[in-house]
This record gives sequence, C-alpha cells and structure tokens, in this order.
Amino acid sequence: MSGLHHVTAIAGSAAGNLAFYRDVLGLRLIKQTVNFDDPGTHHLYFGDHQGSPGSILTFFPHEQAAPGRIGVGQVGETVFAVPKASLGFWTERFIALSVPFNPPEKRFGETVLSFQDRDGTRLALAALAEADALPGWTGDGVGTEHAIRGIRSVTLWVASSDRSAAVLTGALGFREAAREGNVVRHQVGTEATAPVMGGAVDLRIVSDVLPGRMGAGSVHHVAFRAASDEAQAAMSAALSNRLGIQTTEQMDRCYFRSVYFREPSGVIFEIATDAPGFATDETIETLGSDLRLPAWLEGRRADIKRALPPLDAAHAAA
Ligand code: ZN
Repeated sequence: MSGLHHVTAIAGSAAGNLAFYRDVLGLRLIKQTVNFDDPGTHHLYFGDHQGSPGSILTFFPHEQAAPGRIGVGQVGETVFAVPKASLGFWTERFIALSVPFNPPEKRFGETVLSFQDRDGTRLALAALAEADALPGWTGDGVGTEHAIRGIRSVTLWVASSDRSAAVLTGALGFREAAREGNVVRHQVGTEATAPVMGGAVDLRIVSDVLPGRMGAGSVHHVAFRAASDEAQAAMSAALSNRLGIQTTEQMDRCYFRSVYFREPSGVIFEIATDAPGFATDETIETLGSDLRLPAWLEGRRADIKRALPPLDAAHAAA
C-alpha cells in the first residue's frame, strides 16, 4: 500500500475547525492531541472510522492565525472522495449551512465540487464509483450513502513540474497518469480503493503566481505512506541517491514514525509509517473522545489542558 498518508493544515479557531470538519463534513474526530513541537496548541486529526492512512486530514489551529495566501510551492486544494451519486446531497448541504462552493466541474473525467472551509482552506469533493464500495463514517450526521470516504488527491502549485514529478516518480512510487490543461496527474497503487484513499497527486503548473504564504487556510505539509521502517528508509535512500534530497532523522509521532523534506517546488513532504496507527492509545470505538498526550508530555497534562483553547463552540463564543 502506498500513496498519501495524511494532509496537515493550519486553522484559525480550534472550535470552528471542529465544528466544520466534524459537524459540516461529517468526518470522524479520530485524535485530540497537541502539536508535539508546540504543546500549547491543539493537533486535531479527522478521518474515517478507524483513521485509515489515506483518509486523514489534520490541523494545527491557532486562534490568532493570520490568513495564508495560496501560491507556488503550496497545496492549492485537497480533494475528498464521495460516492458517485452524492454531489446533489452535498450541494444542498452547503447551501443550507452557508458553505461557499463553486458549480460542479469535470476534471480527468470526474465530477468535482470545490468549496472552502471557514478559514479559506481550498477543498473539493470528487464523485467516484470506487467510493461506493467502502463504508463511510456515519457517527457525525452524514449518512453512509453520502459520507466522505478518504482523500482522492492533493493539488500542488508548482512553477515547473519536472523536479516535483521526479520526487513523486523516483522515490514515492507514483507514475504519471494523465494531463489536462496545466495539470499533470500522478497516481500510485493498483488496489480498487487507491483512488479513494490517497492515490493521486496533481501538479498544477502556475507560472505568473507569487510564492505562497503560510497561515490560516494553508496546508502545512503532505504526508506519504511507508509500509514499514524499512520501506521508509528505502524511500529516503532513493531521494538521496537519485535526487540529492536529504530527509530529516526519523521522529516519533506516536501514531506513526516520520521523516521530512522539502520537495523542489517548496512543499513540505513527510513520509509516515502505517504503524502503529491511531488505536495505540485508545480503542477504535473511543477514538478522539479525549485529549491524548505522548508519554513525555503526560506529566504536564493539567497545565496543557488549561492552556488549550476550548473545543466546545458555545464555550469558545463566550
Ligand atoms: Zn504530518
């Protein structure tokens, strides 16, 4: 298995972030923890019912975050997969809940509905027959017939696709699959679920656009799957030997082990192991129900909990 593991973005209000991704999009909050590099801030993970790699979108919410600007070297859009006949449901839901969206359009033969969250994060839903076969999380109000299944693709804005493509094809297992206008689609995986669970990266070549600026509404990094520590080491070696790109030392992220590097267009990439997964410190049934901390922060739990902005919306508004 390969492809995307998760996408991590920067949000404004933590309560607003939870209200949008759980209550509007119906994703499962699979983990409440803190940014291990900045324990005063939340790290919220959303995904399918068990936090499958390829379904995960995570956020670092900063209450006072300035808005970001999409540009070269950034992720321009994150696209979720929904069942083939679901876009009518989602269009009505977005109208009812005042979510800004664009009319559906065809991309690579798929019907895509693009929209934005409250921070301006650019998102979309792609209607795919492959999504119909997978179960959807229904615990947060969207019925299984329309629920988001996983991440269909991310779109990177690049000045020239060649060097970014070389990272995808030379080290991460992707192959060029199609071109449409200024967008080059790269795919990985032969499983039937690959298109629904992180199997595509689109490179959009944008020439006269300013570099992006990180802020609320920006994707911070994109993580790719490694089946094991050995597979991760092999991907790092391929990056170094074929492309002269060095990854960081491996870091323990509790739910996966990661190395990081910046791809040639400027997007931060991570390679994350599938193991140990999100059920390592709580059960599948209780995922996301309480604040989880790594062992090295557990002694500071009371202070950390007091400092974190409230997740409850009514509380936050007060
Ligand atoms: Zn990450």
